[in-house]
Amino acid sequence: MKTIDGINKKIAEGSAVVCTAEELKQRIADGETITAADVDVVTTGTFGVMSGTLAVLHLPVTAPGTFRQAEKVWLNGVPAIPGPCPNEGLGSVDLVVYGTAHASAAYGGGHLFRDIVAGKEITVDVESSHLWFSRSVTLAEMGHARLITTRSAFRNYLAVINTKPDTVQSIFSVQGLTGPYTEASVSGCGDINPIQNDPDLRVIGVGTRLLLNGGTGYVMGQGTRSSREKPNIAAYGDMHAMNPEMMGGFVTSLGPECNSSVAIPIPVLDDTVLTSLRITNNRIPLPVADVRDRIPFATASYADVWDGTDSAISYSPDACIHCETCPAAQVCPTGAITLPTGIDPQLCVNCGTCVRECPGGAFSGNLGVLTAGATKVPITLRQSDRARALRLCTHLKDLILDRKFSLTGKVEDLV
Ligand code: SF4
Ligand code: SF4
Repeated sequence: MKTIDGINKKIAEGSAVVCTAEELKQRIADGETITAADVDVVTTGTFGVMSGTLAVLHLPVTAPGTFRQAEKVWLNGVPAIPGPCPNEGLGSVDLVVYGTAHASAAYGGGHLFRDIVAGKEITVDVESSHLWFSRSVTLAEMGHARLITTRSAFRNYLAVINTKPDTVQSIFSVQGLTGPYTEASVSGCGDINPIQNDPDLRVIGVGTRLLLNGGTGYVMGQGTRSSREKPNIAAYGDMHAMNPEMMGGFVTSLGPECNSSVAIPIPVLDDTVLTSLRITNNRIPLPVADVRDRIPFATASYADVWDGTDSAISYSPDACIHCETCPAAQVCPTGAITLPTGIDPQLCVNCGTCVRECPGGAFSGNLGVLTAGATKVPITLRQSDRARALRLCTHLKDLILDRKFSLTGKVEDLV
């Protein structure tokens, strides 16, 4: 039986064997015999729309004594919730900001969090006793900037389709989900998802160190709606350490949503842990639900989403037929398209929306077909970015190999 302390000792000595979940599964698929003695840590990750994300901030506004207590606050127009500490007379505010709060149809909490982490100037507007105060502030001036997920990294998520003819506006669609059975919107990174690789939560628990949006964070406990059948985690991390590329806004047909990411190292303590790490996309059920009630009525698999498909979307400028206004750029949920340059890889989350919208076929990528029994529905939207999650797994592996990240054992079980 290996121990977390023993693995940390090997990390400190530079002798730990670390691989990503994708690398491990490929070695197993290639026929290599692997036991717990052969690998110490496997890195897992997920990136996608995670509505349950909020920020807790403390930031300066004016000189002390200028106002008693903030009653209303906006950051770049995104409404925040002042408090709970009143900061009476201090000229500063404590705030909670939801990732799903909206300043406009195109800018919300997810966009704001990314801008804060990117070090951009943020406009703060405060109302107090009918007086208004406004200033610009950057992350460097925020003494406290913490991101919290109330639920994230679901073991697996779901696919939604519209079973009726009328189009439904939804957070699971960019332009409304058409029907009946004409398109599918999918979420979840499949066999590299952290909890999918530790389904019984043997190693992930309260206190597990992880990467939240690329910065060090910790598991706080179970997330909301977490269950033994479908667990998820609540986590927190310091925004000062985060990477803007691993987070952001995502505009749906019901307004802006919040993209977040989680990467967790799985210590290979024994062969039971290793057995769970052998999971592959074709053995992970993907519940299929109608967008109206989200009650699953069929089951596909994550192989439909990620096996034999293109995890990244590409752009061929030669195929562009120069539409009067570029419809792909207009609907891109992350604002990643600018012509003639094409796709900004820092912003693109490989959702696939542009593939369907571009009449010239300049954007390409095989998103796959959802197969649930006799039902076959083309996938038109991915709200999880496996390509980015893979980059996150590699980043975490490199941090461990560089001795910049060590493992923590859980202090309490999650379920
Ligand atoms: S939608 Fe496609 S073809 Fe039309 S302008 Fe945009 S990139 Fe070009
Ligand atoms: S895949 Fe296309 S629509 Fe989606 S984020 Fe990237 S560029 Fe935008």
